[in-house]
Amino acid sequence: MSIVKAALAAALTAAQPVAAQTAPCPGNPDALATSRVITVDAVTTPRVGLKHFPATLPLADMEVVLTFDDGPWPGTTAAVLDALRRECVRATFFLVGRNAAAHPELAKRELADGHTVAHHSFRHPLLNRMSPAAAEAEIDHGFAAVDTALYGHAAKWPRTPFFRFPGFAATPVLLDRLAARGIVVFGADLWAGDWTPMSPNRELSRTIERLEATHGGIVLFHDTKRQTAAMLPAFLRSLKAEGYRIVHVIGSAT
Ligand SMILES: [Zn+2]
Repeated sequence: MSIVKAALAAALTAAQPVAAQTAPCPGNPDALATSRVITVDAVTTPRVGLKHFPATLPLADMEVVLTFDDGPWPGTTAAVLDALRRECVRATFFLVGRNAAAHPELAKRELADGHTVAHHSFRHPLLNRMSPAAAEAEIDHGFAAVDTALYGHAAKWPRTPFFRFPGFAATPVLLDRLAARGIVVFGADLWAGDWTPMSPNRELSRTIERLEATHGGIVLFHDTKRQTAAMLPAFLRSLKAEGYRIVHVIGSAT
């Protein structure tokens, strides 16, 4: 093989998905499905999401990472999981520790369905209004509550080293601490703003419009919101129809 051919072969190999989902989606031949899986670590990408940070995930044009915050929550989280399962789509959930402690069966279903289960503090306070030590204790309490709900016990290290700040209220000190501990901080690239009441149709059209502008990225939703659970089936079909591809992010420790 010539050097040029070898280089071309290497480039083609590198362009292949890390772990493409090849199995068909049961009961849904037209499913959106999950296009590829990427491992995310704090050495390569300590902070991701262009809304607040200068960098984001290494996504290709039209690739989308779906994220859901603040759950698990009775009713809405199960509806979100049902919609994702129907389309064989894997997402990332950033859990509030006390909600995971109150509804461990929902947290476990997220994991059993193949989603990434990540962290969003214990009580969802604005951490930039606390001392760094108190804020870090709150973050650690959240790690422990989620991992205890999922696995029955918690180690010093969170099983999935992904964290999103409540209200995106980060501080330089806390960002440095999390990076030093190998924890990736997730922001977002876009959102519909589902914390504001709006009809499911309005939320759907707004999210699609914003995706048309960015051509993909990390999308932030809340699985605690009824309007989000209601629009999700149509949203996933729209993604399929418009040629977006779903990327599932996993931690290097999972
Ligand atoms: Zn939140």
